[in-house]
Amino acid sequence: MRIATCEICLPLAQEIELDYKADGEKEKPKELGRLVTLATVSEDGETAEAWSSSAVARCPVCATHYLLQRSVDEGHSFMDPTWDDEYVRRLTPLTAISWLSQLAAATTEAARAAIEEARAPTAREAETMLREQRAPNWHLQRHAIEVLLDECLAGGEVERLEAALLRHPDPGVRAEAALDALLLARDEHYGGPRLFTAEIGAAASTWLAELDARRAIANVLVGVLAAPPRPALHFDFGKWWPCDSHARARSAFYLLVDSKNPAHRQVARYVVDEVHDLGLKTSKETDDILRYFAKVATS
Ligand SMILES: [Zn+2]
Repeated sequence: MRIATCEICLPLAQEIELDYKADGEKEKPKELGRLVTLATVSEDGETAEAWSSSAVARCPVCATHYLLQRSVDEGHSFMDPTWDDEYVRRLTPLTAISWLSQLAAATTEAARAAIEEARAPTAREAETMLREQRAPNWHLQRHAIEVLLDECLAGGEVERLEAALLRHPDPGVRAEAALDALLLARDEHYGGPRLFTAEIGAAASTWLAELDARRAIANVLVGVLAAPPRPALHFDFGKWWPCDSHARARSAFYLLVDSKNPAHRQVARYVVDEVHDLGLKTSKETDDILRYFAKVATS
């Protein structure tokens, strides 16, 4: 993947939150200044002193895309709270196309066409980087997972998704991919750590509506919990990143069955009856999961 050696993207986290009022510009990574803006939309706020903007920008070296959202309020009177925040998120090709479409349909046609053309090669590069376990850091590993998951879901390539992500030798990759897919299917990424399109969410939801798919994910999660934990990355790019494989798997377990969905009882029963014997080591957390599944199974 070209991003893996990119001097601009490599030092950037998947997601960056900047608070210019508190920190000034000093916290802003200088690499952000080298991104090339493709489209921007600004909106006035409720008062003359408030505005916000959304922009899609491209790395001039490796052509990875970013969403940049700025929100400013200087306060109408001197007592008002003020802020100046910026949120930056690395995008997959599919989410970049979606954001460009929302921001400026006409002027970015060429940029959208270029991303469209690069989609398949970018996904293949992500797949190779994951397979060879050559991601230089967790952020780029996470980016590769998102790129590949988006492509496989949008293209209905479930077998490729399972082979490349859910059967990956690293339990960290398996847990991350399973949790991501479940969150996409439940539309729970909005306002969260991941941007995606309605098309991808719907594809994830269709795939995971199959009970066999949920059983397959249950097996993946049990395998992750049975393997030694991939330790959480400590402190990186100025904040904590939740990537402990056991913690990710436990979060995913709770998304696997919805207590309000009668169809999920079967999956819950499957986990309780069969899967927990395969290797779930007893701990307070795994006992809690099994208790929850037992409750859903008999609800
Ligand atoms: Zn780059």
